[in-house]
Amino acid sequence: MVLSENKAPAYTAEASGAAGEAQEQARNILLRVHGLSKFFPVKKRSVFEKGSRFVRANDHISLDIYEGETLGLVGESGCGKSTLGRTILNLYPASEGYVIYRGRSIYDFAPRYAERLLNNFAAEAVRVQKAREEGGGKEALLACALRQLGGGLLLSDNPAEAGAALLAEYRAGVKASAKDAGAAEQAAFREASRAVEELRKKTASVPGFAEYEDCRDDGLMLECLTGEEMRSLRKELQIIFQDPYSSLDARMTISQIIGEGLVTHHMFAKNSGEMQEYIIRVMEECGLAPYFLHRYPHQFSGGQRQRVGIARSLALRPRFIVCDEAVSALDVSIQSQIINLLAELKKKENLTYLFISHNLSVVRYISDRICVMYLGHVAELAGTEQLFAHPMHPYTCGLLEAVPSPGRRPEDTVNLLEGDIPSPVNPPAGCAFHTRCRYCTEECRKSAPPVAETEPGHFVACFHPR
Ligand code: SF4
Repeated sequence: MVLSENKAPAYTAEASGAAGEAQEQARNILLRVHGLSKFFPVKKRSVFEKGSRFVRANDHISLDIYEGETLGLVGESGCGKSTLGRTILNLYPASEGYVIYRGRSIYDFAPRYAERLLNNFAAEAVRVQKAREEGGGKEALLACALRQLGGGLLLSDNPAEAGAALLAEYRAGVKASAKDAGAAEQAAFREASRAVEELRKKTASVPGFAEYEDCRDDGLMLECLTGEEMRSLRKELQIIFQDPYSSLDARMTISQIIGEGLVTHHMFAKNSGEMQEYIIRVMEECGLAPYFLHRYPHQFSGGQRQRVGIARSLALRPRFIVCDEAVSALDVSIQSQIINLLAELKKKENLTYLFISHNLSVVRYISDRICVMYLGHVAELAGTEQLFAHPMHPYTCGLLEAVPSPGRRPEDTVNLLEGDIPSPVNPPAGCAFHTRCRYCTEECRKSAPPVAETEPGHFVACFHPR
């Protein structure tokens, strides 16, 4: 059985050797994005056109997002930044790949997919493998979940026994994670885990065992959750939209807009005094005066509306927020207020942000690490200062050169990016950037460069980094 696609991504802590492991231990990974792709089907131009065409908005992206960090995501318009943010949140279903959320474990959340897959462990393993060999898309996802749940035990010569042991461990884990769990439940879980470890030791010599074991993770695979389960998780995974004008319902007051999520997630009884007090507290945290409570969105400026959008997300006490061009529509003076507010709230609430923007100065100010995207691919990923001090990808170099600087004179030579971003429906072969790259070689036209770690924590997808 060969399910090789799930190898550790080259630019995640999982795969970057001892340094990566040490980093992973020091900082918890909150979200692991693995091989994530999002393709949108394109309408056929004529009835005679053969085959399907797709906009390849994100193509095989792998990333780790650490708890408490701000990961900036930059790139030109149309490179797939917003799509990536929404696909990570499962607002768009992924075409390929998966996202593991580690804010909750399979034991304390007890998703339906875990029990279902483990119940039919042996049969599912055979069925999924067969479907994968035939090129099944959704089945590949189930295969990932199976590997996450079973690890190397998928290679056991007695899958029925392995499945029974894993199911017993999972059920014991769920009981041990319950609020009223006592010492007996904890002991039962330890016992069940011991039995599974014994089986693992027996299977350890099977070729491919280590690769499968790498896939084990007790986080939640968002794509495998039911709609209801995903809804219950929404309060932990929030988004702030780009447009403060269209993202608020014009017929609702600020109190209703912020309160809607609180009622939906059963945090408060509708219109209760406690809820009103809580909303006022959140509004004050976000710099909104309490007397705004019964006003409508049209009575606010752009900056105030964006604060309402932030308050709406924060009221649910999320752990992870996608800020999708959250300040792009605002005046520069208001931008700085909102960015400072986001930074302050992050510190106070230990929030994790994916900060999407095409404004490099803004991203530099707020981000701990920056990921540069080009045509649906990751071009470069590094710590903020590392990236600005020593950009290695020719695209990043071009982006940084394009930022106006007060010290630059008109006669200074600037290597600006030339040409247009190619169509994501028909991306170029080889390196996605080769049509605009001044350092392009024959090799770049033929094959796509892998993402490699060129210095600790600095990942670049280029055959000839600068
Ligand atoms: S791989 Fe080649 S074409 Fe692509 S960015 Fe690097 S030098 Fe340019």
